[in-house]
Amino acid sequence: MPGQRHLVTVIPGDGVGPEVVRSAQRIIAAAGVAIDWETAEAGAEVFKRGDTSGVPTATRDSIARTRVVLKGPLETPVGFGEKSANVTLRKLFETYANVRPAHELPGVPTRYAGEGVDMIIVRENIEDLYAGIEHMQTPDVAQCLKVISRKGSEKIIRYAFELARREGRRKVTCATKANIMKLTEGLFKRVFEELSAEYPEIVAEHLIIDNVAHQMAKSPAQFDVVVTTNLNGDIISDLASGLVGGLGFAPSGNYGDDIAIFEAVHGSAPKYAGKDVINPTALILSSVMMLRHLDETDAAERIEDAVLVTLEEGRSVTQDLARQTGGDVEQAASTTGFTDAIIANLDRQPTTVAPRRGSERPSGQARPRPHWTYGEAVSAAVPRMTVGVDLFLESWETAETAGPILEALAGEALTLQMISSRGTMVYPATGLAPDNVGLLRARFVARETGAAATDADILALQGRVAARFAWTHVEKLNIFAGEPGFTKAQGQ
Ligand code: NAP
Repeated sequence: MPGQRHLVTVIPGDGVGPEVVRSAQRIIAAAGVAIDWETAEAGAEVFKRGDTSGVPTATRDSIARTRVVLKGPLETPVGFGEKSANVTLRKLFETYANVRPAHELPGVPTRYAGEGVDMIIVRENIEDLYAGIEHMQTPDVAQCLKVISRKGSEKIIRYAFELARREGRRKVTCATKANIMKLTEGLFKRVFEELSAEYPEIVAEHLIIDNVAHQMAKSPAQFDVVVTTNLNGDIISDLASGLVGGLGFAPSGNYGDDIAIFEAVHGSAPKYAGKDVINPTALILSSVMMLRHLDETDAAERIEDAVLVTLEEGRSVTQDLARQTGGDVEQAASTTGFTDAIIANLDRQPTTVAPRRGSERPSGQARPRPHWTYGEAVSAAVPRMTVGVDLFLESWETAETAGPILEALAGEALTLQMISSRGTMVYPATGLAPDNVGLLRARFVARETGAAATDADILALQGRVAARFAWTHVEKLNIFAGEPGFTKAQGQ
């Protein structure tokens, strides 16, 4: 509620983190918002102490209590811990919506100035290749699982449509690679198409992600809200930041159903740490998103107006902007000086651009609706049949050698349908010669057309094959509601 005291966890972070966080805290205090900050740590020092998660229990407890975080960038020092503490934080608290607005700012020169670039990238924040499930299949073949769920897709796509509706936006673009990854990215696209029917007032379009990159570089003003899977979103949201001035100006919010983490898009920029020269705008604008989340709309607007006034007047600019505008870098404002200028401009309004009234800014959460299209009962009702199995084998043998051996091992219930190398069929021979990298996939299906492959058949097969080949993993071939839950090999 506006005017009340708020409890917020603040993570100053690494490198330039403490400087930009301090800048945002000073401005929030000057705007009169009463926040009790619980300072917590995460990142480099935590890793170095031997905590391999990078996020100590005390920090987790604080976030569970406050449910709102303002966070500086966190470093993952090489050699300490495996996972990024940033990603860990987002995932631990199921902040599934990564929201990154990118809009033209006055006084920040770009190739697109005057075109009205004003978009919000809504990136799924938990799943996809970021599930981080990686395995070496052989000493020199690595694999990363791309996990896309109906539930995860529905949550983020609803979030994007609800955001568009709440903020009065007219279009949501879904960006996928469904033309190539028909089951994973394809599921995301299908859920988008299903849910779009519930938002008839919003134009829903689907574009292939590579075309999105092309269109963004060519005419970015065509985009409004863009919803996409995790890795696509990681890349195009940085691209979008680059369109409007770069990392120094790019804010973000990570929203879950009741926990939100606000952070700049940029990292710890270690070469600038402690020098009082970094541009704090990205974290200040992230804190504006936080204030909207806390319902402190007036303060959010006052701070955002003050940032716009400071940028449009250009009297106080940090080194990065001085470089971009061809100004005198030696005379550029310090982080502290730039912060002072914004504080001095509180209660002024920009004159060259319309004051932003938050209509396009994300605020609060898109509450789930009651009629989900997923869940235990929905899944259980889907008719299914297992029709075969893919066995992955560590083998440098040629398909011509391995094929007949595997045919002989197939047994009575199953038959070898094909062998592929990196997804391309190599047996039966196609006349082409895709390279062998030491990992073959052998696909066995029920010998009798339309018959099921039982667990007993599959386990017996595995036993026979294991006596001759080193198997690395196994995937069942299922048909769900009459649709194959697996793809064909290239060339099959
Ligand atoms: P970075 O810290 O974002 O810095 C890369 C460059 O971007 C800087 O050298 C600087 O460019 C420019 N830059 C970044 N922030 C700026 C700001 N506020 N104002 C002006 N310019 C800014 O990326 P990195 O060097 O690749 O990563 C450093 C560490 O941060 C790594 O450990 C990485 O894992 C971590 N990281 C954390 C997060 C996060 O916490 N969410 C995000 C990204 C990276 P110039 O050199 O041209 O001046």
